[in-house]
Amino acid sequence: MADGLFSRLREGLFRSRQNLNTMVDGAVAEHRTVNEGFYESLTDALILSDMGTAVAQEAIDRLRARVKAENVKDTARCKQMLREILVGMLDVDKTPLRWPMVILVVGVNGVGKTTTIGKLALRFQALGRTILLCAADTFRAAAAEQLAIWAERARVPLVRHQEGADPAGVVFDAVQAAKARRADLLIVDTAGRLHNKKNLMDEMHKMRRVIDREYPEAAVRCLLVVDATTGQNGLLQAKAFSEAAGINGIVLTKLDGTAKGGVIFSIVGELRVPVLYVGVGEGIDDLQSFNPKDFVAALLD
Ligand code: GDP
Repeated sequence: MADGLFSRLREGLFRSRQNLNTMVDGAVAEHRTVNEGFYESLTDALILSDMGTAVAQEAIDRLRARVKAENVKDTARCKQMLREILVGMLDVDKTPLRWPMVILVVGVNGVGKTTTIGKLALRFQALGRTILLCAADTFRAAAAEQLAIWAERARVPLVRHQEGADPAGVVFDAVQAAKARRADLLIVDTAGRLHNKKNLMDEMHKMRRVIDREYPEAAVRCLLVVDATTGQNGLLQAKAFSEAAGINGIVLTKLDGTAKGGVIFSIVGELRVPVLYVGVGEGIDDLQSFNPKDFVAALLD
C-alpha cells in the first residue's frame, strides 16, 4: 500500500490502536515470560477492543499452540505471533470482480451507505470504469437526494423514481439504462429497514429476480455496510442482513470514530465474509481497500 494511504489508515485507527496496542504492550511489559497471567491480560485486551469473546479466545488458543510448538518464552515475540494470527483470521477469500457488475448495497440507515456508494463510484471511475447509480431506497425521499448529491459530485448518472415507488421497478429501469449505456458497474442503494426481516428479504429477492432476468450477463454482488462505532450491535445487524440478503463482502465505516476497531474480527469470524473496504473518514479518499496485513499493522504497532 502507498505510504500516503497507509498513513490515512493509521490516522483513522488512532483511537483503536491506542486502546489495543497499549493494553498488549502493557501485558508484555508486565509479564516478561509467558505465563497464565499473560494470556489472561491478552484475552482481556482483545475482548475490550470489541473482538468478541469467542474470537478473542480463538486467537489466544492459536497463540498458545504456537508458543508450545515453537517453545517460545519471550512475551515480546508473542506480540509478533499475535499479529500474524490476527492477519490470518481476517484473510477470507474474495469473490473476484467481473464486468458488467451490479452491486447491491445494504445496511441500516445512518451507517454510511450513501457516502460509501459515492466513494465507490469515484474510485471505480478513477479506474476507468463507467458507472451508473440507482436509488432503490424509495422509502426515504432524503436517501435519493443524498445520492443525487454524490452522483453530481462524481459526475455519474443516477436513476431514481418518486418516493414510495416500487424498488424493483427502479432497479428494472436502472438495468435498462446500464445496458443501453454499456455501463461496467451499476451500484444500487437499497432501503435500510431491518425491523421487518421478511419485508427486507422479499424486497431483496424481488430486486435480484429483476436483475437475473433482465441482466443475466452481469455479476451480482451484495455489499453490507457496517458502522464500526456501533460495536457488537453492528455484528448483530450484520448477522440479520446476511441471513436476509446473503452478502459477498463488507464495508466497515467510521473506523476513525471508534476506539474499538476489533469489531472487524468478530464480524469476519462470525460471518466468514471478507471485509472489502474500510471507511476512515468522511472525505472522498477515506475509503480504502481492505488489506488484513496493513490493518493489523495499523492496529498493533
Ligand atoms: P446512510 O444513511 O447509511 O446512507 O449514511 P450516510 O452515508 O448518509 O452517512 C451518515 C453519516 O456518517 C454522514 O454524516 C457521513 O458523513 C458519515 N460517515 C460515513 N462514512 C464515514 C466514515 O468512514 N467516517 C466518518 N467519520 N464518518 C462517516
